Amino acid sequence: MQRKKHSLYYALFLTIFGSILFIVLVRSYYDYDHTKHEVATELEAELKNTGSSLQKSVAGYVDSYAVNEYEKLVKHAMEDDDIAAILISDYNMANILGKKEYISGYIKDNKWHIREYDVQNIEQTKLLENAFFRETQELITSDGSLVGTISIYISDRHLNEQVQRIIVQNIVTSIVLAFLLVALIFFTMNAIILKPLLRMIKTIEESDHEGVPSEYLEEANSKELDTLTKAMNKMIASIRKSRERLKEQERNLVFQAHHDPLTGLPNRLLFQDRLTQGLKKADREKKRLAVFFIDLDHFKEVNDSYGHETGDILLQNIAQRLQGVIRAHDTLARLGGDEFTIIMENLGDSVDISNLAQKILNSLSSPVVVNGTILYVSSSIGISLYPNDANSVQDLLKYADTAMYKAKDEGRNNFQFYNAQLTQLALDRVVLEVSLREALRKGEFVVYFQPQIDTELGEICGMEALVRWQHPEKGLIFPDAFIPLAESTGLIVELDRYVMKVAMEQVFNWREQGLNPGVLAMNLSVKQLEHHDFIETFKRLMYAIGVKPEWIELEITESQLMRKPEDAIKVLQELSDLGVSLSVDDFGTGYSSFAYLKKLPISKLKIDKEFIQDIPKDEEDIAITKAIIVLAKSLNLKVLAEGVETRDQKEFLLREGCRFVQGYYYSKPVNVEQMEKMIIEGVEE
Ligand code: C2E
Ligand code: CA
Ligand code: CA
Repeated sequence: MQRKKHSLYYALFLTIFGSILFIVLVRSYYDYDHTKHEVATELEAELKNTGSSLQKSVAGYVDSYAVNEYEKLVKHAMEDDDIAAILISDYNMANILGKKEYISGYIKDNKWHIREYDVQNIEQTKLLENAFFRETQELITSDGSLVGTISIYISDRHLNEQVQRIIVQNIVTSIVLAFLLVALIFFTMNAIILKPLLRMIKTIEESDHEGVPSEYLEEANSKELDTLTKAMNKMIASIRKSRERLKEQERNLVFQAHHDPLTGLPNRLLFQDRLTQGLKKADREKKRLAVFFIDLDHFKEVNDSYGHETGDILLQNIAQRLQGVIRAHDTLARLGGDEFTIIMENLGDSVDISNLAQKILNSLSSPVVVNGTILYVSSSIGISLYPNDANSVQDLLKYADTAMYKAKDEGRNNFQFYNAQLTQLALDRVVLEVSLREALRKGEFVVYFQPQIDTELGEICGMEALVRWQHPEKGLIFPDAFIPLAESTGLIVELDRYVMKVAMEQVFNWREQGLNPGVLAMNLSVKQLEHHDFIETFKRLMYAIGVKPEWIELEITESQLMRKPEDAIKVLQELSDLGVSLSVDDFGTGYSSFAYLKKLPISKLKIDKEFIQDIPKDEEDIAITKAIIVLAKSLNLKVLAEGVETRDQKEFLLREGCRFVQGYYYSKPVNVEQMEKMIIEGVEE
């Protein structure tokens, strides 16, 4: 059991108070004794005095038998406050009366009244016995004969009173002094010891979560406390230092436990941990995740022929290259040997994945120079997907590994999805990408035009340029088959520039011939907008060809626009400042924010053909179309309906106030010759 701890204040107070009490007691006792003795000596002297002065007169009266006289004298003397009794033994009267003795005199009773002495009175006898002091003197006459005795009794009543007064006085002053002293000692002790101690305690108690004081102790005034302070501070400093060291060691240990010493990459343990976390995150965010299993081709041969040292340097080099290829939030790990893994989170589509795989293959296949030796390496990559292929860490890794072996079987230096279909898709894409580049180079893309009609006037007011791929073997290929890939690979930038150039040149030619093709609408990918020199290139192209900005309209789809509207506003504003008009394509499918629509420098909304197609059958599409027309009016924008195929649709739109339309009802997208014919001859309904 823990003993109850008392405060130092308590101990200090008890000690000081006890000592002073002791001193006061000793002093009082000594005082009492001393005072009593002094007062007694004084009284004794006084008594002797009274005795001697009475003795002479009383002796004379006794000698002359004048009893009354000396009794009067005695009574008078009794008035002295200290005197308790005066008794005279008169030998003469005893002789005359034939008694053994004759005693007369006065005595003070309990109430201090003077009474005549009576030998028979027991109370008086007791009083006499209790008298504090007695002085008996012989009565001797002037001729020297002894005639009796006089006894004077003194009470200690007065003496006690006096002693008591002095003692009380002493005690009071002592106590006052004692308290003053206690206070003084207390305050000095408090100031020089207790307070600094409490400050120290407070500092020490204010500690961080590990119990180490967060501050150092302040300097103390006294030498001893200062020594203590310094010692404590030294201790705190050393605790902190060793804690830092421990933490550092701990960090190192944790790092070592989770990283591969050769490349500094996460090891298998950390990889599994990250993958576990990644799966949870993918679950929460409903996203997909890919695991790449990368194995170097023929690494064993490098090791065998050039030695482990060279192999190690090669691995470090490979790790660096991989690190350079992956995105910041992907995890690259080395499982051991020449096996690396990548966790790719937050996936878009499988195009992203195959793009990364291709990038890795490309980056690893360039030769590495180690110690003057040129090494040609390549790698085989296996890819598994979560949740498509598996949903546990082990299975994902196992399947990626399986896919990697498939890649080895396929002749190395390639990647394989665990799901063979995806691999096929990826391969198709690679083939397509390559042929798209080829097509661009060879000029296989052609531009078609689709007229846009002002139905009020029944005239062509403009046209949209739509790209087609004139494939030497497959024939005419429509944009839906290659635009998405062109966008994901960035080829779209080049493609769109090509289309713009061709279309603008055509419009210029028509104008040169004196024809009026109206406004040329061209599709613009957001990738293009994000390209830093787009505005400059576009402007230069326009002026080089000789087209005027007011002949041009650029279409951006609503969904692309609303992905990063703040960024788009800036570029669009610059375009609009050039004098080019802007329209929002496929409107109604992309959840525009009204606030942004108001801010964007656009002049037209193009109602998506999805809403027009089922008019007048679909009530909901009718309602949406009407709403878009009203919205456009309220924003002071032109509105054009796409995909108009029937007369009913055209008339409905005209009725609702949408006068511009585009669609098969008037014309499909056509080549230059056909378009030129329409410009000259007009469109037929
Ligand atoms: P879009 O910009 O919405 O183009 C309109 C599409 O609707 C065109 O398809 C056109 O042929 C089609 N269309 C027009 N009237 C009708 C109709 O009455 N009924 C039906 N069912 N369809 C009609 P296309 O030419 O296949 O182009 C598809 C998409 O490819 C375009 O949609 C556009 O987003 C994109 N695209 C086409 N050319 C280019 C280009 O040069 N650059 C870019 N970035 N994208 C382009
Ligand atoms: Ca368009
Ligand atoms: Ca459209």
